[in-house]
This record gives sequence, structure tokens and C-alpha cells, in this order.
Amino acid sequence: MNTQYNEGTHNITPRELIEITAEWRSNASCAQTDPDEFFPSSYGRDAVKLAKTVCASCIVRDKCLTEALENNEIDGIWSGTTPHERRWLASRRPGRLLRTSPQSRS
Ligand code: SF4
Repeated sequence: MNTQYNEGTHNITPRELIEITAEWRSNASCAQTDPDEFFPSSYGRDAVKLAKTVCASCIVRDKCLTEALENNEIDGIWSGTTPHERRWLASRRPGRLLRTSPQSRS
């Protein structure tokens, strides 16, 4: 079976979709940093400062944010956004509300 997915204006195969996803991740600035910086135990200003700084210059920031919103990522810093900031962004996308967790309500 040769299932086709439509991403934007292009029809692509499942294998191509996986390769595209892997490709943007290989260019992620956070790949060279401590993952704990992107998943702090609290989301205060100081706790997220380094992650936001790394994201600010990341060349795949748009893809990262799109994936975080599409997958309802409820934890971690993605594209320089906290869980709280992504919930706010998701609330502006019809039909795309993020789940909430007690840990990520800051
Ligand atoms: S935007 Fe931030 S979290 Fe996303 S891939 Fe880049 S460095 Fe990583």
C-alpha cells in the first residue's frame, strides 16, 4: 500500500514524512545542550532563561513550535515557549486546546 499524506501543497509518502521530521530535528540547537535545561522542575524566569536563549537563535524554531502545538506537548520548553505560553497560543487555534498538568501551570 502506498499511502500518501498531504503536508501543505505536497503529497508525500510516510517514509518521506519521517525523513522530513528527522531532518528538522537534526538542525536543533538544543541537540548540543543539556536536556534538563528544557525540562525544568519549575518554569520560573530563571529556570527557563537558558533554554529560551538557545531557542532564540535556533533555525528550526518554527517547525519546533508547530510540532509542539500539533502534539499537545504539555511539558518542556519548545521553540522558546513554556507550557503556559503554548496553552495561550493553542487557545487561539480553533479546536487545538492543550491538555494541562499540575506541574506545568506556571
Ligand atoms: S526551538 Fe528550541 S526547543 Fe525547538 S529545536 Fe530549537 S533549540 Fe530545540
